[in-house]
Amino acid sequence: MSAADRLRTEVLRYFSVVSPREAAITKIEYEGTRLAIYTKNLELFAERDQIAKDLVNILKKRVVIRSDPAIRLPQEEAEKIIKATFGDDSTFFFDETLGEVIVETKNFKLNKNEEIIRNVCKETGWHVRIAKKSLMPSKTLDKINQYIYKDSGRRLSILRTIGERVFGAKTFETSDVTLTVLGSGRQVGRSAILLQTNESKVLLDCGLAVGATSKLGMLPRFDAYPSLFDELDAVIATHAHLDHTGVIPYLFKYGYRGPVYCAEPTLPLMTMEQLDFVNVAEKEGSFPLYNENDIRTAVQHTITLKYGSVTSITPDIRITLYNAGHILGSSLVHIHIGEGLYNIVYTSDFKFEKTRTLDACAHKFLRAETLMMESTYGATPIPFTREESEALFANYVKQTVESGGKVLIPVPAVGRAQEIMLVLDDLLKSGSIPEVPVYLDGLVIEATAIYTAFPEYLSQELQDAIESQGNVFMSDYFTPVKSHSQRDEVLNSEGPAIVIATSGMLEGGPILNYLKEFAGDERNMLIFVSYQVEGTLGRKLLKGIREVSFMGDGGKAEVLNVKLRIEKVDGFSGHSSRQQLLSYLKKFTPKPKNIIFLHGEVEAIESLASSASKVVQANIYAPKNLETISLLG
Ligand SMILES: [Zn+2]
Repeated sequence: MSAADRLRTEVLRYFSVVSPREAAITKIEYEGTRLAIYTKNLELFAERDQIAKDLVNILKKRVVIRSDPAIRLPQEEAEKIIKATFGDDSTFFFDETLGEVIVETKNFKLNKNEEIIRNVCKETGWHVRIAKKSLMPSKTLDKINQYIYKDSGRRLSILRTIGERVFGAKTFETSDVTLTVLGSGRQVGRSAILLQTNESKVLLDCGLAVGATSKLGMLPRFDAYPSLFDELDAVIATHAHLDHTGVIPYLFKYGYRGPVYCAEPTLPLMTMEQLDFVNVAEKEGSFPLYNENDIRTAVQHTITLKYGSVTSITPDIRITLYNAGHILGSSLVHIHIGEGLYNIVYTSDFKFEKTRTLDACAHKFLRAETLMMESTYGATPIPFTREESEALFANYVKQTVESGGKVLIPVPAVGRAQEIMLVLDDLLKSGSIPEVPVYLDGLVIEATAIYTAFPEYLSQELQDAIESQGNVFMSDYFTPVKSHSQRDEVLNSEGPAIVIATSGMLEGGPILNYLKEFAGDERNMLIFVSYQVEGTLGRKLLKGIREVSFMGDGGKAEVLNVKLRIEKVDGFSGHSSRQQLLSYLKKFTPKPKNIIFLHGEVEAIESLASSASKVVQANIYAPKNLETISLLG
């Protein structure tokens, strides 16, 4: 009996034995990582969640119960009921293929009211899926809805193909497990690790090296595996930074057609970053790695997961995502191989400390033989606590604005920007710094809009604040810069001001416009609040180089004499400090047999590896790119 037939038999047996009702099953088919069961029984459809839970326990596969088209109300009639329930300010669209209606609402409490949702399902025969509406307009969220729902027939056929692989029979017995580092081996950038078993090939992250000068240096080492894109079963995207997910559309450009797995907020955030990456390349006149079509294809192949949900992604691999505390949606990946055969935890970028936006990352697991972790700050202890860093930051800002200068804060759009915004709002509200105009420019505004659409991924305190006060990120003190003319006004304005702008390492983005204008005045200050990768303009300035050249508008190189004051405050980083990395090793449960250090410059990795050997008893690896570590077999 084939794997598919076995599942079908189990499902039918459940409905005949466990449920005495007429199940009226009309179709059972694969839908990505889930089994979709279509029914004509409205009662049964309304109890879909409970039935799906029961079946997951029996089948050990994710299940979704869908309504047969015959029992769905016509759209106009269903629309009336939905409007009456969720209010006029909600927006919704119908997915005819799956029988879903996606309702976007700002009403936070309604999202959680299962009773109301069940009643609407029963009344309309449509599966109501609630999506939290962002508190500010977001072009990216609109675009993703278009990519997925405007062509839902194509989406369904993609999901069916993915399902055939996920639910397919195992061809080989799992006896070997290997990890090959294609990027992020003794470097910060181009994260990409190939996990292979006898049965599966999975890529953990697929990022680019920011600041690289050649294409070979920018991409993971795919050149060593020419047939990889055809053989790959799945890609896991841990979070929406370009050095982890910036190369995903490139896979699709060259023929990959398998799934990409990530947490829910990661999809819009990484799409935003990729679209911007293509835009910036086009503006600079350089040839982009991929185009918007490739990004759309990648989105259509992406399956989002909630934290904690165990998901089969190949016949012998199950993954579970956990909060990594780094940016919104950032994930630690727990990988379970075979039936209890082997377990790996891949931290990717993580923060082992509570921040203003997120809770500290997960550190307890049932099983984990190998721990792969980042080492960005492995060498340099951060001398200040979070509170001290905020005080230092406040002091820098105060000094500058009181002497009539302008403060320039380069931020990565996702993560540090929102942390700094919350800190600045507090400082202004409490009167710790004088009231001066604060401008936000670049992707930071769009990223913040996406942050407001996924409150359940934020720390509990921040969720409560959003529920009671609305959009806590956009303080009354802040002015978003939305046009070129508005930007010119800020550039030419007199007197003190604070500017928060992208990109974080001064590699493109509006921050360069401000730097050019403000660099010549010694009263002004540039404050770094995030890691500056080797080779970037930000790193050069940090090293004390004051005559710098960079790519200006239209791809022309420009030289700049930098006179403004430059400071950095490390305590805001979304990465764990050296102290937190070591304390993570001590507290990580259970004790792993192997520890693999990645994502750090040579000095950081060596320093961390040598300290780690004193803290934990384990085999310690610090692989270079293209090294393979055999974990089993
Ligand atoms: Zn990151």
